[in-house]
Amino acid sequence: MSDLYCVFGNPIAHSKSPAIHAAFAAATGQDVVYEARLAAVDGFKQAISDFVAAGGKGANVTVPFKEDAFRLSTQLSERAARAGAVNTLTFKGGEILGDNTDGAGLVNDIICNLNCPLAGKRILLLGAGGASRGVIAPLLAGKPASLFIANRSGEKAEALAAAFADIAAVDAGNFAKTTGRSFDLVINATAASLAGEGLPLPTCLFASGALAYDMMYGKGETPFMTQAREQGAAFCADGLGMLAEQAAEAFLVWRGVRPETAQVLADLRAKLGG
Ligand code: NDP
Repeated sequence: MSDLYCVFGNPIAHSKSPAIHAAFAAATGQDVVYEARLAAVDGFKQAISDFVAAGGKGANVTVPFKEDAFRLSTQLSERAARAGAVNTLTFKGGEILGDNTDGAGLVNDIICNLNCPLAGKRILLLGAGGASRGVIAPLLAGKPASLFIANRSGEKAEALAAAFADIAAVDAGNFAKTTGRSFDLVINATAASLAGEGLPLPTCLFASGALAYDMMYGKGETPFMTQAREQGAAFCADGLGMLAEQAAEAFLVWRGVRPETAQVLADLRAKLGG
């Protein structure tokens, strides 16, 4: 019988993860079945227990359950403990192992797919929610020259910077506090693009040759990508590569083999039609 995996979310019908993991399984010859499962907003724990009883080996977790998954885990990887959220669960011998592959996914996409090394870069991270928190340690591991976290409510950005001060000094504040500074890499981890909105960013934010990266993805440019291009960013990318790379990292955690992402990413892009 095939090994059973799934992604839990609410909503979940839109999820691209089953198609991604089916492609990974075919390419690596792994005997895996991967489903999308809807969990009730207050029913995550029960959904996990039902899935484990049905023989489930592991699960991805998306909105709004990443913090529930963190609390439910009986063991946490170092990166999940740092992120305060879990997107990859492994069920083994009665234990629930919690991991977080979002940060590795983002960094792999930026460094490997977009050919943008982090070392020596001045990085601006926009947003101070769960997605932002999950990528800070992996970004700092790339040894950038500096990291600035800017958020609509500046205090949240400052609290986040303080939580990572043991790794490196991180600047933080509201968007206005970035005035007069310029950055080589600007990552949008806010939900503004989801709402179809741009951000109140000062002009001259993008240094020569800068990459603007939006964690959101969709058909064509996101509002942030359009704004960044108009404000002088040399390169713009959306978060589809991050999605494929975090999935590849989860596949590695579960199966011990890291699938290639190039074909999967090209297929996802073709389906989006952008
Ligand atoms: P959260 O709800 O945890 O955080 C939302 C953040 O966005 C907060 O910093 C909030 O600021 C800010 N924000 C929301 N609306 C606006 C706005 N109109 N203007 C300015 N700032 C705003 O969300 P997540 O961190 O979980 O997700 C953020 C984004 O990352 C989403 O677009 C999500 O789709 C994407 N994502 C993509 C992934 C991928 O694989 N590609 C993986 C994970 C996330 P404040 O604190 O002031 O409210």
